[in-house]
Amino acid sequence: MVTEVVNANDLQKVAPVFGQLSFDNHEQIVFCNDKDTGLKAIIGIHNTVLGPALGGTRMWQYDSEWDALNDVLRLSRGMTYKSAITGLNLGGGKAVIIGDAKTQKTPELMLRFGEFVHSLGGKYITAEDVGMETSDMDLVRTVTPFVTGISEEKGGAGNPSPITAYGVFMGMKAAAKYKFGTDDLENKVVYVEGIGNVGEALVENLTNEGAKIYITDINQERLEEVRDKYSVNIYGGDNLYAEEMDIYAPCALGATINDVTIQKLKAQVIAGAANNQLANENKHGRILRERDIVYAPDFLINAGGIINVYAELENYGKQEIIRKTENIYNTTLEILSNAETNGTTTHEAAFEIAKSRIDTRKKES
Ligand code: NAD
Repeated sequence: MVTEVVNANDLQKVAPVFGQLSFDNHEQIVFCNDKDTGLKAIIGIHNTVLGPALGGTRMWQYDSEWDALNDVLRLSRGMTYKSAITGLNLGGGKAVIIGDAKTQKTPELMLRFGEFVHSLGGKYITAEDVGMETSDMDLVRTVTPFVTGISEEKGGAGNPSPITAYGVFMGMKAAAKYKFGTDDLENKVVYVEGIGNVGEALVENLTNEGAKIYITDINQERLEEVRDKYSVNIYGGDNLYAEEMDIYAPCALGATINDVTIQKLKAQVIAGAANNQLANENKHGRILRERDIVYAPDFLINAGGIINVYAELENYGKQEIIRKTENIYNTTLEILSNAETNGTTTHEAAFEIAKSRIDTRKKES
């Protein structure tokens, strides 16, 4: 039986790995440790039915190793469904490196990590995620071919973040169309939480559209930089979720829609880049539905990045990347409408399509 717990402390008392909701039948979990470089990483390979497990590497200073494990499991599982719903022949995987990317990410550590990736023989292919840059992937590429997100100078598709942001923008427009009857975001009040690589690029798209944008981040320097560049507002309050807004765009880390925030939330649409935005996808998905808040499933609308890195494996160009990313608009509309017809949450509607693609392939093989 799957245990419905997401609290890291509770996980230690029950089945800490196989019993986690996020474990969800992972094929393989690899713990990587290297004393010399200080590398402590976990690679999660959730499912390889559709192809090799592709997903980025996140470097983050987790409060505990349980948090890191829970994060990688949730993320790699999400990748399985993201690639499936996007129609890519990829499985789901992800890696986390425990540590502060600003102070602990050394070339030696990244190379050692690359060797661990290589030891999996292509079953897992890495890319960048939070705390990683294209240059880190270029470095990893010197020890393994099983890496994407390589710089354009080195023959890769480059930084995936602008494409991710464009896909989120497409998903947001579709959700707006569904909720407000128009996908024009001019004068819509949008709160972007987290203005890193993707958040900033989303702000650019939204600025071009004439939206009223508020930004928030834990990094004050970034806030000022993005405000000055796009003439947007920095949110100065301490109760973001309770603010009147049309659209909430979570672009920092996951689980910002949780037991505490969901009751306060005034947004009418949620559409953002962060992975695993719902702390508990079933429970919080249902509450959003009851509250008539349109949620554009994260793993559907943030697929631009994987579309971009997949181009490196399949050798398709920018035009095809844009075409596939723009299709997120149509898929989002289809899913929102399916959810309404079938009385399910939007997350469930997206999940069902992804799962059925995997099940069909499994039967064929
Ligand atoms: P990033 O590291 O460049 O940016 C994250 C930003 O969030 C940083 O500016 C950070 O200061 C801020 N932040 C962290 N905690 C915060 C908090 N509590 N409140 C407000 N801001 C906070 O990462 P990114 O590449 O922009 O990715 C953003 C999110 O989108 C992540 O969840 C990532 O997994 C997801 N995502 C990214 C891509 C991609 O192509 N980069 C693809 C799919 C999904």
